[in-house]
Amino acid sequence: VHKDIATPNRTKEILKKYGFNFKKSLGQNFLIDTNVLRNIVDAANLDETSGAIEIGPGIGALTEQLAKRADQVVAFEIDQRLLPVLKDTLSPYDNVQIIHSDVLKADINEAIETHFRDGQDLMVVANLPYYVTTPILMKLLELKLPIRGIVVMIQAEVAERIAAKPGTKDYGSLSIAAQYYAEAEKVLTVPASVFVPQPRVDSAVLRLTIREKPAVEVIDEQYFFKVFHASFANRRKTILNNLVHNLASKSQKAEIEQALAEADIDPKRRGETLSIEEFAKLSDRLYKILQ
Ligand code: SAM
Repeated sequence: VHKDIATPNRTKEILKKYGFNFKKSLGQNFLIDTNVLRNIVDAANLDETSGAIEIGPGIGALTEQLAKRADQVVAFEIDQRLLPVLKDTLSPYDNVQIIHSDVLKADINEAIETHFRDGQDLMVVANLPYYVTTPILMKLLELKLPIRGIVVMIQAEVAERIAAKPGTKDYGSLSIAAQYYAEAEKVLTVPASVFVPQPRVDSAVLRLTIREKPAVEVIDEQYFFKVFHASFANRRKTILNNLVHNLASKSQKAEIEQALAEADIDPKRRGETLSIEEFAKLSDRLYKILQ
């Protein structure tokens, strides 16, 4: 039996063997705690028939735990220097495919078609590079991939914003964007000491469970996204002022007031008090009146 990759000693050994130096610009903070990794994998509820998609395998710490639990693992890694390392550290596993690419540019649907069976239970599981957390999560959600969910280690602060409920200080456009597609829950908070090098922010594990259909039905999805983004542009402004300044124009104030009235929303409220259902209703009224 070989040693787990995710221990301080084994990680040091691997890094030394390859003369690897961390690239901050790629968000390289590797996990060195096998317990935390098991908790991440547990949160994904994988079984031996599941497929796992990983983003940023690093030296393979999480990949290894996924390979032990799932049927197949496909991992996207941007850093070419890690390819020989991964080939070495993951040699005991025959169910791992590494794809050398920037996940933001990759054709994830094609990778799924190529590497997994039709209808296979699929989860994205990753310790994300923090500099691109939001674009990666939004890409995964917007693509409407055939996945059951996403379990990711991210900055604690971002996890809180994504999982936030209306009326709280963390609630904003990111909460609505994510919760439109998925149920969001923070499953675990993690100290910086489980990484090398240690990130300067606290981390947390977030689980997104993809909804069968989006949380609300709207006439125009893109317009709905525009409406709630505009509503949060200036958090101190009322919903009316934000919409006048960031969605329409001053000359359309009366129309916006009409849409708010039809949606039963007090124009003096702030965006952060509106539920996703209220944003949906408002978006449809605005769409009918303004578009
Ligand atoms: N999974 C490993 C672990 O938990 O120890 C490494 C996690 S580290 C936080 C993030 C990884 O993502 C690094 O290996 C980095 O090179 C890779 N990465 C950064 N940007 C990426 C991108 N745009 N596409 C794919 N991988 C990326």
